[in-house]
Amino acid sequence: MASNYDRAASEKKWQQFWRTEKIYRFDAKSDKKVYSIDNPPRYASGTLHAGHAVNYTQIDFAARYKRMQGYNVFFPLCFDTNGTPIEVQVEKKHGISIDQIPRQDFIKKCREFANSFIKEMTSQFEMLGESMDPELYYQTDSEDYRRLTQISFIRLHKKGLIYKGEFPVNWCPRCQTAVADAEVEHKHRTTKLNEVIFKDKDTGEDVIIATTRPELLCTCQLVAVHPFDSSKRKLVGRKLITPMFNREVPVVDDDKVDPDFGSGVVMICTIGDKDDLDWCYKYSLPMEMAIDEKGRMTSTAGKYEGMEIIEARKEIIEDLRKEGLLVKQHDLEQNVGVCWRCSTPIEFLQMPEWFLNIMKFKKEVLMIADQIDWHPAYMKQRLVDWVTSLAWDWPISRQRYFATPIPLWECTNPECGKVYLAEEEGCYVDPTITPPPVEKCEECGGEVEGCQDVFDTWMDSSISPLYNTFWERDPELFKKLYPMSLRPQAQDIIRTWAYYTILREWLLVKEKPWKEVMIGAYILSPDGTPMHASKGNTVDPMELIEDYGSDSVRYWAAMCGLGEDSPVNFKELTRGHRLGTKLWNVEQFIFKGLEGSKPERTGAVHTIDLWILGKYYQAVDSATKCLDDYEFDKAVKEIEYFIWHELADHYIEMVKHRLYAGDASARYTLYTIGLGIIKVLAPFMPHITEELYQQFYRQHEREKSIHIAAWPEFIQVESSAASAEIVREVIAAIRNWKSEKGMALNTVLESVQIAAPEAGLLQECADTITSTLKIKELNFINKDELAQQTVEVKPVFKNIGPTFKAGAKELTRKLRELDPKSVDVLPIKITLSRGKEVELGEEYVELRKGYVFHGEAVETLAVGDVLVVF
Ligand SMILES: [Zn+2]
Ligand SMILES: [Zn+2]
Repeated sequence: MASNYDRAASEKKWQQFWRTEKIYRFDAKSDKKVYSIDNPPRYASGTLHAGHAVNYTQIDFAARYKRMQGYNVFFPLCFDTNGTPIEVQVEKKHGISIDQIPRQDFIKKCREFANSFIKEMTSQFEMLGESMDPELYYQTDSEDYRRLTQISFIRLHKKGLIYKGEFPVNWCPRCQTAVADAEVEHKHRTTKLNEVIFKDKDTGEDVIIATTRPELLCTCQLVAVHPFDSSKRKLVGRKLITPMFNREVPVVDDDKVDPDFGSGVVMICTIGDKDDLDWCYKYSLPMEMAIDEKGRMTSTAGKYEGMEIIEARKEIIEDLRKEGLLVKQHDLEQNVGVCWRCSTPIEFLQMPEWFLNIMKFKKEVLMIADQIDWHPAYMKQRLVDWVTSLAWDWPISRQRYFATPIPLWECTNPECGKVYLAEEEGCYVDPTITPPPVEKCEECGGEVEGCQDVFDTWMDSSISPLYNTFWERDPELFKKLYPMSLRPQAQDIIRTWAYYTILREWLLVKEKPWKEVMIGAYILSPDGTPMHASKGNTVDPMELIEDYGSDSVRYWAAMCGLGEDSPVNFKELTRGHRLGTKLWNVEQFIFKGLEGSKPERTGAVHTIDLWILGKYYQAVDSATKCLDDYEFDKAVKEIEYFIWHELADHYIEMVKHRLYAGDASARYTLYTIGLGIIKVLAPFMPHITEELYQQFYRQHEREKSIHIAAWPEFIQVESSAASAEIVREVIAAIRNWKSEKGMALNTVLESVQIAAPEAGLLQECADTITSTLKIKELNFINKDELAQQTVEVKPVFKNIGPTFKAGAKELTRKLRELDPKSVDVLPIKITLSRGKEVELGEEYVELRKGYVFHGEAVETLAVGDVLVVF
């Protein structure tokens, strides 16, 4: 039997064993109850970082636990290979822009780029010990997956929920595509606030207006002031002349104006931000566009046409300054909406886009959110807040390439625009390649062309529960698998992935997608700041595995609370490593003691064994309850405490003599607990627990891997077993006493007496006490046999000094000269040299009591109401 644990070799060996033995295989034909995980398809734009390692490991805890609970676990290995982030990286890598290269060539480059990470990430998942089933593999750019996205779109289109509209949408000029509200992030930045001069048309008076976007002056159509702003109200109804463009614009009053911002006078342009947009609708202003889809100024901008936004802003500020129309500039802190893929500031553009009607279904989404159990519970509020704040429908079309094509053809005649929707049977289809179903438009005889747009990537991701449950492919399996058990995900995509999934599944199958949602931890760098490659503070999880082993990395992952910010914690990694070593040593002790055989439960169980079994079952019960609530940290701590502080610190010392003597009760107890603790730790530390299982238990147990063995059951032990706790306390106290005296723990004690009000239990366990502590002679005595006497009279200096001042010294000496035995009670009288008699109570004197046993002063140790006499 190996006495040392070869971590690296063992982890590799079992990973291979699990793979070849298909330990994680989901059995579609099985009648067992199903636990299904809507595993987040890992985005294929790089390898795993520390955050992914923790998040997937937390999901794996649930998968492994449920497998041992007897569930048929559905946990797919999957990757997300779609969308703009991959395109952005491909553009960077090849130094190209999407419009400089043929569509299919660009798609090919994206696919190659994404696929290049999949093999490595798959092997990283394995090294982390993640128990995903490779037979359930999927990738979101597969025709199989995209076909389902297209069918789901066709269904929604037929329900009348999809429409094409020309509304201003959030637009990323860098990615050159529409983005949904959910994809707009808010970044803090410092910009310049420019005070520019408008002229009153009639009086020629200067009116100062502050703006951060002077390049939009060319689309200024209206100026507004607050109705209660007494100094500005006089402008209402007048006409102003805009600087540089000399347009005549009216002034209105509007209570949305903030009178304290800038000069209190606002110019309204089409379109700088959402406020502008609201005003455009309110005052029915024509949508003049100063910026095109590439982020360049249009002809509306006159001499600035063709310039990029920043360049145009610089130019116009310079021109305003030259003309004397710029009063001053100052810094302004502002929150600006940026593209979440590339951080470019978002513009508003009016473009023809496909929309999914989502505004109608707020109530339904909130209703479904209530039917789902959220872990942690407060995360549901994030979704509620988002849904409540939604103001626009969802633009689902993107002007990109590497995504699912929108399955339709359109008549190019702008007066007609007839839509030819693909047939479900014809999907998957790419209408940029496949010719239209008609040669000419049946309505107007115009040209019909395939839709060039693709779907927003969330259109794919938000049907993952339908893909996983074989919707539209296997009705029987769908019935068995839908809704799924768990959606694990990150909190920053609650407003996208969680929201869109709930919405779409409601629209398509009218039922919640999952029973539970688990929001993973957010991992920070060791110093507690977010990890950024540019800051050089990222941590590679593979290096952590190298240094600490996979089980220790997983232990740390367990300690990261769900939904919380958790820095990489080297202390926890070390603790995980120490727990592994402890577990190894405890089990080696058990294996050696049991000498290869499986003990059966025969005869009575020893009191001490009942006591530790009680503690053990309690720990199993608590850990199980924590796991049911996805409280991984608490579950591990329960069993960890038991192993260190009940089993190893106490019980193992207490049981050695009986184990070595072949006691059946001791052997049965050690087998039960030894197997049970590795089972409870198996989801967290799968490698070392498998190694230990195979080393000894496997030959006696049915299952070929601990990871498909049954979770330990909870058994109620007779409550009287708990009272044996006093035996542990007495032993612990005497061991402590030995160590304080500088004695080795195996130092032989000639004779020890114990006086206890109820000695029955201690007497019953006398063998345990004497063997554990190496006591030659242990006697139980009656407390009456002990007499108490004073062994020291201690002056209380802090009170004697201030009260007796000059006399304090003499008083202290006299107290010390007293024979302690003669002082029974307080107060005592002391006569000082000048004949003055003082009476001292407990304020001034402390009497330390000791015991006398058969006329001899003895050392004692109190353990509750039990007295140990040496
Ligand atoms: Zn972008
Ligand atoms: Zn037509």
